[in-house]
Amino acid sequence: MRKRFQKVIVYILCIAMTAVPFSVLSELKANAAESIVVVIDPGHGGSNLGTDYLPIPEKMYTMVVAQHMKEELEKYQNLQVYLTHTEDIDMSLKERAEFAASVNADFLFSLHFNMSLSHALYGSEVWVPSTGQLYSQGYSAANEFLIQFEEMGLFNRGIKTRIGSNGKSDYYGIIRESSIRGIPAIIVEHCHVDNSNDASYMQSPDRLKEFGIRDAEAVARYFGLVSKDGKTDYGSYAPLAVPVPANRVWNDTTAPSYVNANLLKYDRTGKYATVELTALDEESVIQYYSYSYDNGLTWSALQQWTKGSPTMTISISMGYGKKDTLIFKAYNLYDRTTESNVIYLN
Ligand SMILES: [Zn+2]
Repeated sequence: MRKRFQKVIVYILCIAMTAVPFSVLSELKANAAESIVVVIDPGHGGSNLGTDYLPIPEKMYTMVVAQHMKEELEKYQNLQVYLTHTEDIDMSLKERAEFAASVNADFLFSLHFNMSLSHALYGSEVWVPSTGQLYSQGYSAANEFLIQFEEMGLFNRGIKTRIGSNGKSDYYGIIRESSIRGIPAIIVEHCHVDNSNDASYMQSPDRLKEFGIRDAEAVARYFGLVSKDGKTDYGSYAPLAVPVPANRVWNDTTAPSYVNANLLKYDRTGKYATVELTALDEESVIQYYSYSYDNGLTWSALQQWTKGSPTMTISISMGYGKKDTLIFKAYNLYDRTTESNVIYLN
């Protein structure tokens, strides 16, 4: 705010100085318009590799996407874009937030790629601050990113908060340190590097560039930006309006409360089972389900749950070999799971 006030003063002084050439004046006039400051944080760097499941560590991917995002955002008016770092260096989360504060950032976007211990998860997710205005801003911007990723064909794993074990602050350092400084910060997990569903999204420079462009578009829509050439105008675009929560928005720490599998039909000749699966969770949504023929010893790949629906009717090919049981597992927004009853097929 202080910086903007100074800019206005400088502008007024310049108008008063009639000797200033017109071209300089118009330049200053453009700068005097309220400029939005965006900080892009390429996740990790230096000795902090990030996810190193692939031969190329996460820090390299985040830097490439961040550069493309910055380049794309610079096509818009009234916007200043910074990266927290442009070299492959160690930088603490606090230093990143301090940098954002030093440039009077309106928002910090921390870019990441994900991995799960089981290697079973796939899709995109965004972590947001858990309180007040920062939550509203974070959620609304996160929604724009996930719209972009869904358009690319990625599974939407949702918008999430996570509270630290003290119960008093956000778990993720970049969100916590930015929140302390009054800056909304979100962690954008583009996709999972360790799952075949997502692998193709990061296999080529072109696909990484697409992430950068999509990230920029999400930001442009969120802030209602207009491109310098005037061809793209999000001025009348309305991002999701998120009410400011009265209390801290807690993450779900419990598994789905109820999962039931009801065999509707078993076709012995075609060897497929039709099952009505019901999964309930009072605190968050159901995201995936999987099934097992061997009483939970091995599980299928994760299948997408129809969001918002408590019940799905599923047809499962039983394939070859003796399989006389079927059991299901439902995953909620936070990947906590509950198993169903066992279905006996004999
Ligand atoms: Zn990361």
